[in-house]
Amino acid sequence: GSTASDSKNLKVKLVLLGDSGVGKSCIVLRFVRGQFDPTSKVTVGASFLSQTIALPDSTTVKFEIWDTAGQERYAALAPLYYRGAAVAVVAYDITSSESFSKAKYWVKELQKHGSPDIVMALVGNKADLHENRVVSVEDAVEYAEKNGMFFIETSAKTADNINQLFEEIAKRLPRPSV
Ligand code: GDP
Ligand code: MG
Repeated sequence: GSTASDSKNLKVKLVLLGDSGVGKSCIVLRFVRGQFDPTSKVTVGASFLSQTIALPDSTTVKFEIWDTAGQERYAALAPLYYRGAAVAVVAYDITSSESFSKAKYWVKELQKHGSPDIVMALVGNKADLHENRVVSVEDAVEYAEKNGMFFIETSAKTADNINQLFEEIAKRLPRPSV
């Protein structure tokens, strides 16, 4: 993996993978800028954003976040995108079983071609649309456990669990030995 810097200040490359439309860009914008723009129909602007968080033990983690500009549609481009990533956030939409299948596809890709010590998070986004839920928490938990992933449901719209997602990832990062 590519956790760098001294033991108190980590810098990590984080990539987002998942079907187009599941809310990857909205998750990033909510985390980095605290905003949600319901009118943005397609991926918004920036493909690279960073955000630093502090953990209770005073370690800081700087996430260098790589968001796609829709390249997730082209599987062949993916290895370039996730090369060297210490963290992969694999997202689906809880109202779309197709997006859950696609998430599983990305997990397999990462297991084959990603860094061996990559930290993977499985994220069920659009949790605010629970009345239209088709992917159960139980199925997602079972899949995540089987694949050694951390699982959380989020809503970029309401901000529910967005900060928690990144905090939980930060806690799971391998720490460089001093
Ligand atoms: P991406 O293609 O994965 O980057 O998806 P976007 O971030 O561009 O979001 C796709 C669509 O889903 C947009 O219309 C967003 O407004 C909407 N969206 C994103 N996150 C949420 C969410 O948590 N709840 C709801 N209800 N809609 C969301
Ligand atoms: Mg996007």
